[in-house]
Amino acid sequence: MKTEFDVIVVGGGGSGLSAAVSAAENGADVLILEKHVELGGATGIAVGSLTANRTQIQAKAGVIDSLDEHAEDAGKFAAPDIEALNNSELRRWFLDQSADTLHWLMAMGLNFYGPNPEPPNRVPRMHNVIPGAKAYITVLHARFIKLGGTVITKAPVLDLLVADGRITGVNARINGVESAFFAKKGVVLAAGDYANSPALIARFKGEQFSKIEGISERARGDGHLLAEKAGAKLTNMSVTYGPELRFIPIKKKTFQQLLPTRGPLSTLMGLIVPIMPQFLMNMMIKRLLVTWQHPENSLFDHGAILINQDGDRFCQETESPHREIEIANQPGKIGYILLDRILTEKFSQWPNFISTAPKIGYAYVKDYLKLRSDVAVRGSSLVSIAQKRSLPMENLQKAYSESNLGDGPWVLLGPVKAYFTTTEGGVVINQNFQALDHAGDPIPGLFAIGQNGLGGQILWGHGLHIAWAMTSGRLVGKQFA
Ligand SMILES: Cc1cc2nc3c(=O)[nH]c(=O)nc-3n(C[C@H](O)[C@H](O)[C@H](O)COP(=O)(O)OP(=O)(O)OC[C@H]3O[C@@H](n4cnc5c(N)ncnc54)[C@H](O)[C@@H]3O)c2cc1C
Repeated sequence: MKTEFDVIVVGGGGSGLSAAVSAAENGADVLILEKHVELGGATGIAVGSLTANRTQIQAKAGVIDSLDEHAEDAGKFAAPDIEALNNSELRRWFLDQSADTLHWLMAMGLNFYGPNPEPPNRVPRMHNVIPGAKAYITVLHARFIKLGGTVITKAPVLDLLVADGRITGVNARINGVESAFFAKKGVVLAAGDYANSPALIARFKGEQFSKIEGISERARGDGHLLAEKAGAKLTNMSVTYGPELRFIPIKKKTFQQLLPTRGPLSTLMGLIVPIMPQFLMNMMIKRLLVTWQHPENSLFDHGAILINQDGDRFCQETESPHREIEIANQPGKIGYILLDRILTEKFSQWPNFISTAPKIGYAYVKDYLKLRSDVAVRGSSLVSIAQKRSLPMENLQKAYSESNLGDGPWVLLGPVKAYFTTTEGGVVINQNFQALDHAGDPIPGLFAIGQNGLGGQILWGHGLHIAWAMTSGRLVGKQFA
């Protein structure tokens, strides 16, 4: 087995693949080591939105945008105390490169629809990959292989190798055996976030959050730990996107996941989507909403209650993150949202909805009943609701009688779980993506990108994480020309 390369990329998600493609385009001999059996990471299960300014797609739609305005709007998504932690210089610099990244991906054959609005962005900036985020992985992987790159899956990186103060390679476990791989030009950490690392969540955010899971089961924080061990400084590690309530994922593959992600059929879809009749577009959006979006807090403000699998009420529903912490302590870490007749009617029409991508689409009770029968049931009596979800009737009756709910028919939504979507802590980096130590000096040979190399940026709102993953990957690759 070949063990010497110019560049080793740790992790084959969005940032790792774009780094590998870009480095290979610049003539480097690149190895990707991926822990799991498949490439993809959180990128592969994402919605796929990429937010950027001054793009060709915006220009075609007549949208006039500017870097200044995007930099300002990007600061309006997080609460002021979180936004105060942002590395504004790095985020602005990245936003300046985001359109080039989108165009680079389009030139590889990826298709996008948009730009879509997302307030408080003042103009539409969200570009959605067709048919979904898996397309990033398929297209980048194919390009990397075409460029002669090497991928080894089921190859978790366990350690970084150091010689004379420089990171010279990695140790990975392959077929149960530890093997050393050497990198002449650099090791790039692209191993994703730590939303699914109870130890890191407990250490940086607090023990009480540690039972809450990350949506991506692969988000174990390996890259952060490797960087820390090598002396890199980590920043903003207590900042997380979530926890928030979400419906459990659909078990079977969705229609969108079955669509081709590359090749002529995918290109054809890219041509069709922008001219698709609005009703078909709405159907597609509704499916995305009921699959991915979280139930609105306003359900609880209007009096919906949360019960667990034993039929018991267990928290003050309007208080977040208390309710998310408590749900993670319930049997199976799940809960259900109970709506009476009045709430069902209320959340069946504008201005109340169960979930939304603001200004793009809204999903109501009937959409969940129709499209997600695994997480939505209707019953004329509490007894029928209890039977449909195997809840003890006595407890359900008690929870109801102690609430302010009215009469039926009833709708029960769930199981819902508390999840972290992503984490925002990362390695402190410079604009060459070099990992910096506690004195602010680069650690020779070590680079961090994507969720590993967030560098103190707050990337809330939709589409900035993928924009950063792809941009940091594209630009770090140029370092290895
Ligand atoms: C449900 C969901 C929807 C989202 N939707 C969007 C969206 O639409 N737009 C947006 O901008 N953001 C979205 N995000 C966030 C975004 O997808 C991620 O932040 C981003 O894609 C992360 O890219 P990455 O390359 O840093 O990490 P990942 O894509 O997670 O890749 C990391 C890879 O490293 C591998 N790895 C981990 N440890 C090791 C190791 N020790 N050795 C080798 N390999 C290792 C992992 O297996 C994984 O394949 C979403 C997130 C979720 C969970």
